[in-house]
Amino acid sequence: MMDQIRALAQNLGIDHLGIVRAEDYDAQAPAGHRIRDWLPSAQSAAVIGIRLLDAVLQKLPEQRKEYTALFHTVNYRLNDSLLTLAKFFEARGHKAFPIFYKEVSGWNLERRNSLFLKLAKPFVALPALKRVVDPQLWGEVSYKHLAVAAGLGELGVNDLLLAPGAGPRVRWAALLTDAELPAAGPTRPLNLCRPEECAFACVRACPVSAIPEQKGGIHKARCLQYYLELGIPGVDGLRCGLCVARCPAWKW
Ligand code: SF4
Ligand code: SF4
Repeated sequence: MMDQIRALAQNLGIDHLGIVRAEDYDAQAPAGHRIRDWLPSAQSAAVIGIRLLDAVLQKLPEQRKEYTALFHTVNYRLNDSLLTLAKFFEARGHKAFPIFYKEVSGWNLERRNSLFLKLAKPFVALPALKRVVDPQLWGEVSYKHLAVAAGLGELGVNDLLLAPGAGPRVRWAALLTDAELPAAGPTRPLNLCRPEECAFACVRACPVSAIPEQKGGIHKARCLQYYLELGIPGVDGLRCGLCVARCPAWKW
């Protein structure tokens, strides 16, 4: 079955594909964000990634509209691909549960109307409002941690998944299934985050100092507040993307 999945993924324009065993992943993941929290009979998760375009990233921050259009186009394609892959599994008698990309997944803002967003914009980093949104700003199941578990890359100081040859220039999504697929985890350290070489380029690039130099500690609420300052998500919102664009890990 894996050969068919790989061929299908290639036809869909997917650049990265990895498999994770549900049992292994769930043993490490926090409650509420485990694979079997979303599909109790799941045996595997397939992580898929599509690479962003270098020429568009190089135009940041001047051409944020183009970057935002690219960002959403890739996400739509990922979601569409998840549906196609889910149908592939269903046609073979398996259950499949796509973890679709959602613009404000984990922010709990999708249940708010645009008036709420307008009112929230100046205050989203305040403690009172952080209680309204998910304080951890986590999605259902972490694409990034699934990709790490699948051996597709490592987390960088910018808290993004760095993939060999692509760095953080990849958008990710995942599909959960009760099909048993062959998983291959990380085999060796990839050493993709090299602050000694880039002098913490992502930290220096962030316009709101949301990225500290220690791994795993980005200020998501600060990043979210900046995002809301750039527009209303789903209406005229623009993506920042500087921590993606300035990270040189795609070169190695
Ligand atoms: S997206 Fe922009 S604001 Fe958010 S962490 Fe990255 S550089 Fe900072
Ligand atoms: S910019 Fe440098 S420090 Fe930041 S994630 Fe990329 S390689 Fe690591």
